[in-house]
Amino acid sequence: MTRVFIVGAGPGSADLITLRGARALAGARVVLHDALTDPALRELAPEAEWIDVGKRGFCDSTAQTRINALLVAEAQAGGVVVRLKGGDPSVFGRLDEELEALAAAGISCEVVPGVTAAIAAAADLQRPLTRRGSGRSVALTTAMTRSGALVASRGADTEVFYMAGRQLAALARRLLAAGWTADTPVAVVSRAGWADQHGSEHRVDTLAEACVLHGGRPTVVIVGVGASRLATPAAPLASAREDARPEGACKITLSPPRAAPVASEAKP
Ligand code: SAH
Repeated sequence: MTRVFIVGAGPGSADLITLRGARALAGARVVLHDALTDPALRELAPEAEWIDVGKRGFCDSTAQTRINALLVAEAQAGGVVVRLKGGDPSVFGRLDEELEALAAAGISCEVVPGVTAAIAAAADLQRPLTRRGSGRSVALTTAMTRSGALVASRGADTEVFYMAGRQLAALARRLLAAGWTADTPVAVVSRAGWADQHGSEHRVDTLAEACVLHGGRPTVVIVGVGASRLATPAAPLASAREDARPEGACKITLSPPRAAPVASEAKP
């Protein structure tokens, strides 16, 4: 019997995947995975065939169409198919296209949520995205339009921009144009959730400086209330806190469930 799971791996260390996602992996015949997912996740499905469908593996303009086709073909081949995606599948993960491809082929699936980069970044920095009384709303926003143009907005008390890491100076200009003041706090986090995460704090008018620390790494930019310091900060912003995590902390030793590993996660 075919079962398809679209699983959020979380943004970093393998131990940020959910138990539900790990159980889906434990029963997988084949795993189609993104480039950003942690190789340590392979320990959760050592017998499965792992196929890299991330940007490096499928590097052309028809990449998503080919991923959709492969997903459908693997589902039709039978067994448990896991589509493993970085962060949460519903956040800038092109989940809509994969769901539509499966539905068009008459294949049902289950989506397993994951920790999205914004949430991991807030945890790393210990700066809550919402604040009682001052931060009532959070927006997750891509800075890139479909045509590749950079855009910024001011749609919430805290706005977290994805996919802007390479254009921080331009993002700063767009933020000013969107109505954020020059002294609005901004926090930048790259490789959130990984042992080598970097975090730094800026203002809108000094945001461009962040490219030195974060260049070439997956990065989110937190603007507004959620980027501001707490009245009593718990700790300074961290940079490469390798020492904060014991060696091997990302190893997962979850045993597969004893019986019907994947079926036990089925919807009621
Ligand atoms: N589905 C993913 C987002 C995919 S879009 C999620 O929920 O997190 C890819 C963008 O996500 C990157 O350009 C970057 O802006 C952000 N991103 C992904 N992983 C990240 C990480 N570990 N740290 C910071 N930003 C990350």
